[in-house]
Order: sequence, then C-alpha cells, then structure tokens
Amino acid sequence: MRPSILFPLFADIRALSGVGPKLEKLIAKVAGPRLVDLIFDLPVGVVDRSYRPKLSAAEAGRIATVAVSVLDHLPPRIKSQPYKVRVSDDSAVMELVFFRADARYLMEVLPLRAQRLVSGKIERFQDRLQMAHPDYILGLDGTLPRHEPVYALTEGLAAKSLSRAIKGALERVPSMAEWQDPAFLKQRGFAPFGEALAAVHAPSHEADLSPSTPARQRLAYDELLANQLALTLIRARLKEVGGRALHGDGTRKALVIAALPFALTDGQLTALAEIEADMAGETRMLRLLQGDVGSGKTIVAFLALTRAVEAGLQGAFMAPTEILVRQHLATLLPLAAAAGIKLAALTGREKGASREATLKALAAGEIDILIGTHALFSEDVGFRDLGLAVVDEQHRFGVHQRMQLQGKGKRPADVLVMTATPIPRTLALTAFGDMDVSKITGRPPGRQPVETRVIGAARLDDLIAHLAKALAAGQRAYWVCPLVEESEKIDLAAAEERAVMLRGALGVSVGLVHGRMKAAERDAAMAALKSGEIQLLVATTVIEVGVDVPEATIMVVEHAERFGLSQLHQLRGRVGRGTGKSSCILLYHGRLGETAKARLAAMRDTDDGFIIAEMDLKLRGPGDVLGKRQSGMEELRLADPVAHAELLGIAHDDARLILARDPQLRSTRGEALRVLLYLFGRDDAVRYLRAG
Ligand code: ADP
Ligand code: MG
Repeated sequence: MRPSILFPLFADIRALSGVGPKLEKLIAKVAGPRLVDLIFDLPVGVVDRSYRPKLSAAEAGRIATVAVSVLDHLPPRIKSQPYKVRVSDDSAVMELVFFRADARYLMEVLPLRAQRLVSGKIERFQDRLQMAHPDYILGLDGTLPRHEPVYALTEGLAAKSLSRAIKGALERVPSMAEWQDPAFLKQRGFAPFGEALAAVHAPSHEADLSPSTPARQRLAYDELLANQLALTLIRARLKEVGGRALHGDGTRKALVIAALPFALTDGQLTALAEIEADMAGETRMLRLLQGDVGSGKTIVAFLALTRAVEAGLQGAFMAPTEILVRQHLATLLPLAAAAGIKLAALTGREKGASREATLKALAAGEIDILIGTHALFSEDVGFRDLGLAVVDEQHRFGVHQRMQLQGKGKRPADVLVMTATPIPRTLALTAFGDMDVSKITGRPPGRQPVETRVIGAARLDDLIAHLAKALAAGQRAYWVCPLVEESEKIDLAAAEERAVMLRGALGVSVGLVHGRMKAAERDAAMAALKSGEIQLLVATTVIEVGVDVPEATIMVVEHAERFGLSQLHQLRGRVGRGTGKSSCILLYHGRLGETAKARLAAMRDTDDGFIIAEMDLKLRGPGDVLGKRQSGMEELRLADPVAHAELLGIAHDDARLILARDPQLRSTRGEALRVLLYLFGRDDAVRYLRAG
C-alpha cells in the first residue's frame, strides 16, 4: 500500500483550487492526472522579465516590461476585430491588443489616464508597437516575478493556468526522509529532494534547463535509482521463483544439426554454449541474445528450444508479426521433423475448431514447441509444462508483455530474449534491467557485404534504368516506401502509387505488401517474392523485422532521410542474405541538412550494427531507437539515459548494493527507499518485496 505521506501527491489534480473538469482534462493531457505528474512536469523554457526598455527603444519579439499611461480605448467596430487600448510612455505609443475582449473588464484594469505596468511580448507592425494579451497588467508599485518557468502546453491550455496548478502541486510536496546516501549527496553537491524540485521549477537562465544542473541531476538520480531498484527486485524475484536445471542428452540436438544445410559458425556455437549452460543451472535463465541482422539467431534459439524438449518440457517461440511466425514455421518444420519434435503455430489467424485443437494438444503436451505472435499471451493458452520461452525481435514487445509470457506454464520458464537492434549498455539497463547477455559475433560464411549508395531523387530515372537491368538479369528486389508519419492511409496511397509506377516502368511483376493487408495476403506476397513469381516487392515497413528471402539482392529505401539509422540497418539486413552480391540504395528527396547527410553517409560507410545503434542513440535518443514502450523510456520522466548515462551506471551499482545489504528494505534508509519507489510509481516492485 502506498505510504500515507504520499497521499497528497497522488490526489487528482482536481484537488487543486481553481481546477475544474475542463482545466483538469487539459492539464492531464500535458502532464498527467495526478499532482505527482505536475511536480515532475519540468519546465522547457524560462521567461526573463528583467528587460525594461523605453518604448521607443524596445526590441521586437522580446518580453518587455514597461511603465505606461493609458491614452484611449478603441473598441472594435466589427466583432471579429480585436479591442485595442493605446498606451504610452514618454518616448512612444503602443497598442495593447485583445481578441474576444470583455470591454468592461478592460475598462476596469486599464482606466483612462491611469499609470500601469504591463509585461508581455512586444511586436512591431509597420512601425506600430503592439503587445497582444499582456501577461501582466499591474499598478506601478506592483511586483512581477523576475523569472518564470515555461511549460509545454496544449491547445486551449493557458500558460498561467498550468503554471498556477504546478505551483499548487509543488506546495503540497511533503517533507520526506532522505532516501539517498548523504555522503553521495555531499560529494555531488546535490540538495535534498524538495529543494532540488523547487530549483528545477525556478529557472532563471536557459542554462538552468540543462540536464546537467545539480538539481536536474539529483532528480534524475532519484528516478534512475527507483528504476534500477525496481528492475533489480523484479529480476531477483524472477530468478528466485523459477529455476530448475534443464538437461538433455543431446540426441535431438544432434539430429537437428545434422539436418542443417550449413555448419554453425563459431559465434553461434559460443552463444548456444552460454545459453545451454544457463539452462542447465539451478537458477532461472534471463538472457538477452544480441546478434546483428542476419547473424543467424533463429537456429540458435531453436537449438535452445530443442534442449528444453530433450529435458521433457515445452518451448514457446514468440515473434512480433504473422509473417515472421509463418517464416519461422517454414524453416523450422523440416528441422523439427528430423528430430521428432512436434511444432505448431498459434496466431490471431487460428480460430474456432483448429485453435481449440491446438490448445488442447498444447495442454496435453502433444505439442513440443509453439510458435506464435501476441496470441500466445491469450488467457486460454496453457502449456503442460513450459521450460523455455524465446522472444524474437523483442523490440515490438513491451516490458509488461515479456513478463506475462514468463508467467505461463506451471512453473516460470527460462527466458531468452533476442534482438537484432544492438542495444547500447546504458539503454539495455533501463529496458531490460540486468539480463545476462550473449552476443553472436560474425556472420555466416559466404556473405558479401552489401554495397550501399546514397542518391538524390533527381536521379530516380537512372535508378529505375539500373533496376530494370538487374531485374532483367533475374535479380529480386525490395522497394520500401516513404514513411509518412501518423497516417497509415497516406503511406498506403504512396506505396500503391509507387507500385503502379514501377510496374509500368520496369515491365516485371510487382507485388505490394503493407500493414493494412490481411496476414494471409501479406504472407502470399512474401512467398511470391521468395518463389520468384514476383521480382519486385513494394512495401511499407512491415518487412522491417526479420524477414528472410535470401534470393533478394536489391533494397531501395525511398525517403531514406526519414528513417532512423537502426531502421535503415534493419532494412538493409533484408538483403545480402544469400550468396549473391547485394546492394542497398538510399534514395532521398529534397535537399539534405547537415545531420541528415552525415547520417546517410554513416550508413554508407559502416555495416556494424553496434556503431550504428550508438550513433542513433546519440542523434535521436532512446525512445526513437527502441520505441518508447520497449526502451522503458515511458517510465522515465526526469532522467535521460544519454545525458545521465553516468548516473545510470551508478544507480545500477547502488541498487544492487542496497538490496544486498537490505534485501527487504527494512532499515531506516530502506523505509525511505520504499517511499521513493512509490513516488515513482514502482508499486509492482514493492509487491515483490512483500512477497519475498
Ligand atoms: P537473424 O539473426 O537476423 O534472425 P536468421 O536467423 O534469420 O538471422 O538467419 C539469416 C539467414 O542465415 C537464414 O537464411 C539462415 O538460414 C542463415 N544461416 C544461419 N546460420 C547460418 C550458418 N551458420 N551458415 C550459413 N547460413 C546460416
Ligand atoms: Mg531473426
């Protein structure tokens, strides 16, 4: 249960005086529904009201405060026009402009000939000075805040209303016992939580908004520590409650390997050895398998699942899309057959009687390995005894879903998470807590590097001529269509148009695959490319993750400048999978800015997924690299894993140390840390504490 000291902060924002239902909705939209959301809604700017020029010398566009006297009122002649009040100091005249004005109110605050202090943004229109809706209208002896924080707004929400609400919320912050180590605070020059919070909401310069100020660092550290404590607790709990040694005699494994048309690489063998050692251990496996696109993770996962089957248990293999499930099923079925392993699929497509039959067989243990999409999460999916769950290309799954799968089966299963987006360590910590990591280094032999070229859309005709030649020679290609944000409909229209154009220009059979298609249609299109029935596949990014058509050798990405580097790397990984020489053409439209140029040049110059991911992280931030949900970012409001990377490392070590000394958080500091966990909404982690 949440400690009572936090009750005021977890009240609805309606609890604030002056916040009615309408305002509540708007504020909730930008910050969140509770007071605690308001105190963590950090300013994005600062207004400085110290500029007090003579009107004649006032610079347009600046916030200025001027002492003026009221000359006259100019009510609008038609309603749609603004109400104007002319004022002056001894140097010039200025118009105060009010839209949808209340004349009576204006007469009251700006009576004729009165002296007033007005503060707001000054604009100049054809030599006329104007100030629209002054922020302040005061008597000459009125006092103005010298500096004011600026918060992100939404339409209909007035800056003043939000500021007032945040101020109100800050006043309700209780005084809480310090949860951080005093020596650490001293060494860092960090103030107590309440003081730091007040400081970040009272910036006086742009520099005060930087993530590196002591106040912002202090708060970021609080959040990171809560995050790391929670992840460490969850991990400890997961390891502790699960855990059984899975042994196999290696017979099925040998049969699978014998059925492979290739030899495993050293990188694959090393990763598999690490995974098997983990599975054989008494504690539960929580392992992340990282391997660049095309490094051959699928077969490693399947061999791990084979080990679970050898141990008499079942396996689950989860992929993010229907296409991938079908693809895995197609490649793995022959291997499973060779080793006498019963493999089945479960996706949203299985319905009615066939679904019933699958579920029954699964519960009876007649299915050894179940491959599926999100459908594996359904309530009614029950294994007889799940030994290992593999989550492939996990970046489409959130942390929560990963947990859910772990809860399947009679006993918690070992978990292997696979990712092709190489995840820098800092990010891995927030996204996965502290999983063990295996890496597949190197690629299967015989692969030739993909030649990458960056060209402008002005050369589209050249590109098409080149493509026509290659296709005439029997090659196969992808053409990925521009990403138009927020509108799948527009994306689709663009893709369809492109397909028609290419069909006409190239004279080959062209397929189209997009997110709005039914899964079966999508599979059919992919299969058509694989069989050669079509030579060119125009696609929205549904092909991004994991799709394997070794025969495809050309990848064109249109509007490449709109894609993230990791995404481009993934897309490029769709070619160069067979032995043919492959190329990737990054087509850009318009003129490229410096950053965009550098990004595309980097794609051309390196093929190392890790370098690309690090660069992407620096350029775009974690939410964009992994997806907000998956990166664990949605949980972080004050900390930024890039700017606060050093603090993240410390918080990680700190969390382990704290829990090693005080596993139940029972000490005085432990009690304070419980409050910290609740403050940052990690109630789930505290529950693990109680249960443990
Ligand atoms: P990813 O790591 O991107 O998931 P996949 O597992 O899909 O990669 O493997 C990519 C391709 O490489 C597949 O066609 C697979 O059959 C092939 N492959 C995997 N391992 C090897 C190997 N050791 N030698 C040759 N080809 C391999
Ligand atoms: Mg894969």
